[in-house]
Amino acid sequence: MNVFFDVDYTLIADDGSLRPHVHEVFQKIKDDGHDIYIWSGVGIRWEVVNRHNLRQYIETCYLKPLSDYKETLIELGVDVMPDFVIDDHSGVPLAFGGVVVRPYYTRNETDEELLRVYDELKNFEKA
Ligand SMILES: [Mg+2]
Repeated sequence: MNVFFDVDYTLIADDGSLRPHVHEVFQKIKDDGHDIYIWSGVGIRWEVVNRHNLRQYIETCYLKPLSDYKETLIELGVDVMPDFVIDDHSGVPLAFGGVVVRPYYTRNETDEELLRVYDELKNFEKA
């Protein structure tokens, strides 16, 4: 499956710090045979990917549609279909399937939301 992650408040907090369990969960998703993509409504976020050493896990970065999600994929250059989408806003997961995460606004070492995402992905695979 093509697994798409939002950036702001999904993977990073407002201070740019990485949400707990990103490396571990990305590795598990890859080990399960999926392709990981990162997209954002405010730009192509290679800087975030490189700063947090995430390049090894992901296929590429894209711009994320902010409305008419499916219709605007092509014009944004997204040439694979998202199968499972993780975002702190519900619009994109509702359009493609996936999971809405609790927004990660501030650094919190005890946050386990991404472990739940991995469980939801496993359940989605089985369904
Ligand atoms: Mg976000």
